[in-house]
Amino acid sequence: MLILATFLFLFDKKLIIQKDGKDYEIDVEEYIPGVLEGEISENWPDEVIKAQAVVSRSYALYIHQNERKKLKSDTRDQVWKKSTNSKRITELSRETAGWVLTFQDGSIAPGFFHSTCGGRTENAWEMWGGDTRFKEIISVKCSKCYDSPLFFWKRKININLLKKLAKRFEDPIYGKIIEISSKSGEIYVEKSSAGRILKFFFTDIMYVLYYKDIRDILPSNFFEFEISDEEIEFYGRGWGHGVGLCQWGAKKLAEEGFSWQEILKFYFPKLKIRKIY
Ligand SMILES: [Zn+2]
Repeated sequence: MLILATFLFLFDKKLIIQKDGKDYEIDVEEYIPGVLEGEISENWPDEVIKAQAVVSRSYALYIHQNERKKLKSDTRDQVWKKSTNSKRITELSRETAGWVLTFQDGSIAPGFFHSTCGGRTENAWEMWGGDTRFKEIISVKCSKCYDSPLFFWKRKININLLKKLAKRFEDPIYGKIIEISSKSGEIYVEKSSAGRILKFFFTDIMYVLYYKDIRDILPSNFFEFEISDEEIEFYGRGWGHGVGLCQWGAKKLAEEGFSWQEILKFYFPKLKIRKIY
């Protein structure tokens, strides 16, 4: 009975996608070309597009099976274009039909991805917590994404603007507080073991900023910073949350001759690649 239930569960391929106020019910294989059109350049090599197809399929099926029935059609889930004009994209997607990433226990894993890691990807569990199986989506050294326009970046932001985005915290600061601003001593940061800033504490006003609070104003949370009177200068690397597949790195690997399977093994060394239908 359990085996039968698992079988039926795995083959529930219908997704509900929300776009412009409407719900679209479509098969995952019809959905993937629209995501490829939204999330990756069609001029990139075949193998990186196929790797993207597998991570996007895995992500959509994981969310559908574990979190919620409806997927958003923007960067909160994955960008999805309703119609696909590229025959090549559709063909490359079809070549990977049914292939997904799975956890060690065989269940579908979310194929997290981002534009540019900046040199090292992030541990999913440290970034988001949640599902304990995320511990299998680990940080890896990339050093392949240097062609990205956001491999290095710099931003200057007014400190009061940052404080406005922050929220009050009551708890004492604890955990891996490993850096204190050299000039004012007012700001503490908590870093992940891979080096990203997870929390930003303004101790003078007892406020905390989480990564999600600054994702719209900084390209990534992989940065060092310097404080001057009213401003903080950020010296950062990468674009996006840094978890899972690094698209610019995957492009370089494809150019160096990696297959889509080898690309996925590179970014998800603890996951398995399986064909489920
Ligand atoms: Zn990278």
